[in-house]
Amino acid sequence: MKIILAKKIGFCFGVKKSVEKVFKALEKEKDVFTFGPLIHNNQFVKRLEDMGVRVINETKKVKKGSIVIIRAHGLPPTTKKEIEKMGAEVIDGTCPKVLLLHVLARKLEKEGKKVIIIGDGNHPEVIGVKGNLKNGIVLDSVQEVEKLDDFDDVGVLVKTTEEVEKFKEISKALKNKFKKIIIHNTICDATDERQSEAKKVAKLSDVMIVVGGKHSSNTLHLVDVCKKQTTTYQIETKDDINERWFEEAKTVGITTGASVPDYIVEEILEKLKNIK
Ligand code: SF4
Repeated sequence: MKIILAKKIGFCFGVKKSVEKVFKALEKEKDVFTFGPLIHNNQFVKRLEDMGVRVINETKKVKKGSIVIIRAHGLPPTTKKEIEKMGAEVIDGTCPKVLLLHVLARKLEKEGKKVIIIGDGNHPEVIGVKGNLKNGIVLDSVQEVEKLDDFDDVGVLVKTTEEVEKFKEISKALKNKFKKIIIHNTICDATDERQSEAKKVAKLSDVMIVVGGKHSSNTLHLVDVCKKQTTTYQIETKDDINERWFEEAKTVGITTGASVPDYIVEEILEKLKNIK
C-alpha cells in the first residue's frame, strides 16, 4: 500500500509559537495554567498536564502569582484584563494572525461599519474577535445571510481556519445583499495551503486519513474537503485505525490538522506501514 503524506502537516506556525511559550513559562518557578486547552489536541494537552500545566476555563479560578497563557485562538480583551486583575502574569500565546483579526475588527467598527464575522459563533477564536466589537454579528451559513437586516456599510472578516469554499459561497451571498461592503479574506495561509494540499492528496488516494482532534474545527474542515474527493476517515491517534478500511486500498493519503504533534503522525505512519 502506497502512502502519500501531505506536505503541510503537524503544528502550524501559530500553534508552534504558543507551545514554545508554554515550555518557556515552565522554566520559571511558578504555577503555569492555560486559559482553555492550549490547542485542540487532547493527547498533547494531556502531555502538558503531565508536565504540570493545568487548564482553567474561568477567570475566578485564576491563582494570584501564577502564569496564565492565552492559547493560540485568543481571548476577548475583557477576559485578558480580568485575568490580569486577578494577579496573574499573562503570557499572550494568541497567534499573530488571529490578533490581526482583533485589530481589523476594531478598525472596521471605528470606521462606522457593521462588522460581520464568518465562522462558528461557539469557536473560541470567533468569541475572542467578537469580544472587540460593540455590536458584531457572527454567521456561519448562506441561509443566515438572508435573515440579516439591511445595513448601509458592512465590513466582513472570516475565521482564520474557515473552509475556503464555504467562505467564497457566503461572501457571494453577502455581496448580493449589501451595496457597500468590504470583505477581508482573513483565512490564514496555513489553512488555505493545508486544504488545497489535502485536496490534491485525497484526489490521488483510495482512502484518506485526516489526523486531528474531534473538536478541532480546522481538522473538521479538512475532513469536509477530503470527503468530496475520496473515502475519508478522521482519527486522533494510531489506536483509531481500523485495518479493514484499507482492504481494497492501493493508495492511502494522510493529512493533519494544525494542532497535531509530529510524534502522533510518526506513530500512525509506523502502524500503516505494517498493515500490508
Ligand atoms: S491556523 Fe493559522 S491562524 Fe490558526 S493558529 Fe495556525 S497559523 Fe495561526
